[in-house]
Amino acid sequence: MTEPSLTFEDFDLDPALQDAIKKMNYHKPTPVQAEAIPALLERQDVLAGAATGTGKTAAFVLPMLQYLLDEPRHPDLPRVLLLAPTRELAFQIHKVVKQLGTFCNFKTAIITGGFDKANQFKTLRQPFDILVGTPGRLTYLMAEDALNLSDIEMVVIDEADRMLDMGQGKDVLALLDAIPEDFQAALFSATLSGAGVRKFAEEILDDPVTVQIEAPNQQSEQIQQIVYLANDKAHKQALLENILNDATCQSAIVFCNKKERALEVTEWLQSRNISAQVLHGDFIQAVRMDKMHKFKSGKIKVLVATDVAARGLDMLHITHVINYDLPFRGDIYIHRIGRTGRAQQVGIAVNLVERHDLENLERIEYHLQQQLPVGKIAGLEANFKMKDVAKKPAKKKVKKKDATKKSAAKTAKKKK
Ligand code: AMP
Repeated sequence: MTEPSLTFEDFDLDPALQDAIKKMNYHKPTPVQAEAIPALLERQDVLAGAATGTGKTAAFVLPMLQYLLDEPRHPDLPRVLLLAPTRELAFQIHKVVKQLGTFCNFKTAIITGGFDKANQFKTLRQPFDILVGTPGRLTYLMAEDALNLSDIEMVVIDEADRMLDMGQGKDVLALLDAIPEDFQAALFSATLSGAGVRKFAEEILDDPVTVQIEAPNQQSEQIQQIVYLANDKAHKQALLENILNDATCQSAIVFCNKKERALEVTEWLQSRNISAQVLHGDFIQAVRMDKMHKFKSGKIKVLVATDVAARGLDMLHITHVINYDLPFRGDIYIHRIGRTGRAQQVGIAVNLVERHDLENLERIEYHLQQQLPVGKIAGLEANFKMKDVAKKPAKKKVKKKDATKKSAAKTAKKKK
């Protein structure tokens, strides 16, 4: 159990880090920080099941910075490798490294796809301590002999489940294979339930401390979830407009499963004079960043996004996440709604459900082991009821929190 009274002062962290924590206004450690930071400070490997929005980034960045402070060395080659599945998440991690390392003197580099390779060759010729990047571009640069990982002492793999989904497992293992010495490793994943993640973790981690903050099918209690039933597309659009025009909705992400739908919904919202922009994976990095910036600064109220495009989007003032299309899988649902209700804020996750979405809803409810409440908006009630059409979610065993449990997989190690 997490000590309720635990503070950051209870960790053996340098004053430079304590000051940065204060500057960030973190008052007390989040559960994943309370459990992962001590283990990482003790140089243990960590396997953490923590969804986005739990404070997981600081959970690995703080002990990483403390390690570099404890073992000062002038770097020729990077000493820490932080891997993320997408460039947005890599930028987000890099930002947290900068923020929490603001009173330290470490040099960092960020290398992801979507940016000029020639500049990246140059960057890698400079000395720096911390490398943040995405696996694909890093393996490319390694194959070109531009990246030398032989001095890496610590590796963090963030959102490992997403990496595996995106087919990056091989690249990650190739990068780790290039690290000759024993290194500390941490693997973070929204869910630890899949066999894929477990196997991947076994290949990488050495007798890890397991930190399972929430069961993989639970989400933050700070997110209120609701379902609105819709008769057809026009009804769905009317519900969407009503929700976005409500005074409580200040900033929203509307999720669609496909780029084409995201475009269609954006055009429709614009035609209704709602400030909306589309964000999908086909935009070049500069355009994506520009849109995200406008959204974060409040110039755009609604971002209509596909899953890939919205990865790594971290902001505290998203009040609503709206699933215009329900995702096909429960873990994607958890990732989506994790965009709201971050840290101390309360968020609302709305699901617009037509009859043909019910199969996805059932899958999500099965994953959550919870039936989502169905709401009504006056004048926009559906002409059918859930009980007329839906099956009850099947029961599955929900594994409760198993914090700081050593993994049984002590033998199957690849670490050298
Ligand atoms: P993450 O799960 O790392 O994406 O973090 C989610 C959000 O929580 C970010 O905006 C962080 O700045 C914020 N955060 C992280 N740790 C804390 C903390 N201990 N107290 C308050 N906010 C935090």
